Formats: sequence, structure tokens, C-alpha cells
Amino acid sequence: VELPIHDAVLARAAEFGGIPALIDGTDGTTLSYEQVDRFHRRVAAGLAEAGVRKGDVLALHSPNTIAFPTAFYAATRAGATVTTVHPLATAQEFAKQLTDSAARWIVTVSPLLDIARRAAELAGGVREIFVCDSATGHRSLIDMLASTAPEPQIDIDPAEDVAALPYSSGTTGTPKGVLLTHRQIATNLAQLDGAIPAGPGDRILAVLPFFHIYGLTALMNAPLRKGATVVVLPRFDLEQFLAAIQNHRITGLYVAPPIVLALAKHPAVAQYDLSSLKYILSAAAPLDARLAAACSERLGLPPVGQAYGMTELSPGTHVVPLDAMRDAPPGTVGKLIAGTEMRIVSLDDPGKDLPAGESGEILIRGPQVMKGYLGRPDATAAMIDPDGWLHTGDVGHADDDGWLFVVDRVKELIKYKGFQVAPAELEALLLTHPGIADAAVIGTYNDDGNEVPHAYVVRQPSATDLSEAEIMMFVAERVAPYKRIRHVTFTVGVPRAASGKILRRQLRERA
Ligand code: ATP
Ligand code: MG
Repeated sequence: VELPIHDAVLARAAEFGGIPALIDGTDGTTLSYEQVDRFHRRVAAGLAEAGVRKGDVLALHSPNTIAFPTAFYAATRAGATVTTVHPLATAQEFAKQLTDSAARWIVTVSPLLDIARRAAELAGGVREIFVCDSATGHRSLIDMLASTAPEPQIDIDPAEDVAALPYSSGTTGTPKGVLLTHRQIATNLAQLDGAIPAGPGDRILAVLPFFHIYGLTALMNAPLRKGATVVVLPRFDLEQFLAAIQNHRITGLYVAPPIVLALAKHPAVAQYDLSSLKYILSAAAPLDARLAAACSERLGLPPVGQAYGMTELSPGTHVVPLDAMRDAPPGTVGKLIAGTEMRIVSLDDPGKDLPAGESGEILIRGPQVMKGYLGRPDATAAMIDPDGWLHTGDVGHADDDGWLFVVDRVKELIKYKGFQVAPAELEALLLTHPGIADAAVIGTYNDDGNEVPHAYVVRQPSATDLSEAEIMMFVAERVAPYKRIRHVTFTVGVPRAASGKILRRQLRERA
């Protein structure tokens, strides 16, 4: 039988009963599986009573909290489509998303209430703002737990009805609303199921945001489907993160490359007992094999595994399964999951399929391909061709055994005198320099009109005298001449999206 997402995730909640489903990593407050199941049904009744109807868009505006999944599954059970909102969005940004998605309802948390109110005012069209915790003047989800209204019985068609409307990260432009049906999300969970086993006793640390598709599926849906315990942190703070791993005996980490970087290089890591960890999985941005190795060697773990995906793919297509983490080739993002097809096509001649080993654009076809972008038929048509192939905009190649390697995005490649240079490769090389704490590379234009690699570098506190010339020499000794860094700018930090991606667009605007 095909289930809507809340039933697919919580199918075994009764069986898991008293097992902790969610633990607040800051104060230890715990929700059991039985509570999440009961609470989300009561809140669904409360939302329906308040007027939420099938097809309504509800904006969920919250940092990671233990109430987030209850709010999400309550909304889908009431028939709503949930659009998740960046908790640091300004009122203007939030209003834009409300308008774009035609949201009628907001669920927020009291510290963000003012922003939610202003966003609703700017956008118009919002009927009511609910608050997860208690707040005067607004209905709260806590009050809804006492609702005596009947549980809504909504007829959901998993193949057609949109469960989630997350926005893409906005790395390459304005974030786009991505329509994902119940079936697309549930199917992708099932496709990825066997890769990283989890069950009661496993403890996953949710530090990446639930509002982004990666956190929503890997940290919320997947572990709650299996009886694992999710320890929730509201934001990434290295010391709090390390303390949570130690104190909660975390067994599995799903992270993005900046966290791997911190684990590999930050001195504080040595002060914590991280021996409970069994694996680390990284996704959302390129992770260099050397950095991955430095992290796993330092922590005494099997090599950091990777997964690959995008919001438009519900989100996954490739993963390094847990039992292959030791033997998979370094740097791979994994193997294609069941029920999914991939092609690699030439960048110069897009109709031409490339053989193993050659890099081109990655195309994907499968049941997890999005329904489309909200309100952007042209963008949808540009992304998904008439044969159902989604053009990822990412460059990669697969080896003879099917392991995929992602090089970078097509749009980010620097064209130096007819050669293509991948910024991710240079960033990875820069990070191997002991005096470099962080780095980003973009293409900028010389006076002669040539696009050249330009590095933005954050020096380690101990390397304040590291010079531009020294960095350029370090790279020149290790790469072909056309890949050399031609300019270096020192900076205090690299701009990143909440999902961990370098925002090269912002650096280009600065340059
Ligand atoms: P936008 O589409 O709005 O510009 P975005 O593409 O960054 O933003 P997401 O859907 O969050 O939004 O990210 C998907 C992208 O993340 C992929 O297209 C790919 O470039 C990158 N990515 C994901 N996983 C990996 C990985 N393991 N290695 C390299 N890149 C990855
Ligand atoms: Mg994208």
C-alpha cells in the first residue's frame, strides 16, 4: 500500500512506543515515539479545527527543535503542503516565500514571532499564525494537544498531492520552490533505506537544518521511520556539537563539508570523547578525498562516506553504503540507488553520452524527480526534458564500477583560455595547506578579458604571515599551469548557505 508521508514515516511508531524519538540536545527534553505519534494527530485535529484544509500551504518557520517533526507531520496529516522557511530569513525574505507559495498559515516559534508577523503583514493572504510553544495572542500547538476535535480523515493521493514545498538553497540564483509529492519523498526514503542501517539504539545528531531537504529527509524522516533517536541542536556551534556527540553517545553523523573541515582541523576536537561514532556521511557540497581522510584518521573512523542529491530529487540519487565505506574509492559520492537511471552527457554536445571515466553533465531519471518548480513552467521545462531526464547542472564522471565523482557545477567552472578549471578542486588543494583554515575560489576577469581563478583565503590564527605569493606558489607546484591561482584575497570568513554550500555568487558580487 502506498502511504502519505506522515504514515510512511510513523508506520512503526506504535511498535517503538517508549523509545526516545527526539531529544533536545540543549536541555535533554525528550519525546518518545508514542508521544510524537499521538501529538501530531492531536495537532492535526487542532489545525483542521482552526480551518486548515487540504491543499493549503503552511509555512513552517522554525530552527531545529524537537517540536518540528510534530508540526510537520500534523500539517501534512491535515492535508496541507508544508513550505519550510529558513529560521534566519528576514521579514522581507520570508514575505517573498509566503507570496510565492501563496501560504495561508504560518507555524513559528515565539522568538521568531515578530518576524513572522511582519512577513505576514508584508505578504497579505496569511489567515493565522500558530506558535509551537506558548505565546500570548496566538494559538499554540501545545494548546492543540488538548483538542477534542476528531482526527482529520483527509483523502490524500500520494502520487499527485504535494507534501512539501522546500526551496532550493539559492546557490546559483533566487531559491526556487520545489513541488515534492508524498510519493516522491516516501519513495526516495525507501530507495535509500538499506544504505545506512539504523534502528533503536542508534542516535543521530540533527545539527543541519530540518528546513533544508537534506536535514528534512536524512535527519528527520529517515531515522524516525526506523526507531532511531534524533538528538536535536538548533544551530552549528562546534563546542556544543562536540559535547552533544560525547554526552549523547551519538552513533551517526550526517553533515556537510564545513563540519568535516572543522572535525579534521579544529584543535577543540581533541578535547572530546567521540568514540561512540560509527560513521560520518557528508553531502550537499563537494568534499575532497584528502579532507575526508584527514577527518576519519583523526577520529579513528572508517572513511567519511558521501551522498549526492538535490532538492529537485527528493533529494537523493547516490550514496556510499555503510558496509562499503572502507572500500569505496576515495572521493566518490556513491553508487546509483535502485530504481534510478543516470546518464553523463558531453558539455559541448549535450546529446552525446560519455563513456565511464569521462566528465560531463549528470542527468537523472527516476520516481524521485520533482513534480516541478512552483509557478515556473519555463524553469521546470529547462530542467526536465520531455523524456523525463532531469539535468542536474552538475559535472561528474563514474568509474567502471559505477562509483560517481562530482567535480563541480557546470555554471561554476572557470574558463581559462579554453580550459575548464573546477573551483572545488582548487579549494580542496588550498585546504591541504596547514596555514589555511578555509578557502573559496571563483573566476574573476583580468584586464585582458581572461577569466582566471581567484582565491579567497582565511588564514589559520597561527599563520598571519602567510602571503599571497606563498599561496600562489603552493598551488602552482601542484597543478597544471592553466589551473594556477592568479589572485588571492584574504578574508575573515567564506560565505555559505545554511546547507553548507559556498556562496560563490556573493564573492563574485564582492569582486
Ligand atoms: P540553487 O539550485 O537554488 O542554486 P542549490 O543547487 O545549492 O541551490 P540544493 O538543492 O540544496 O540547492 O543543492 C543541490 C546541489 O548540491 C547539487 O546540484 C550539487 O551541486 C550539490 N551537491 C549535493 N551533494 C553533493 C556532493 N556529495 N558533492 C558535491 N556536490 C553536491
Ligand atoms: Mg540547484
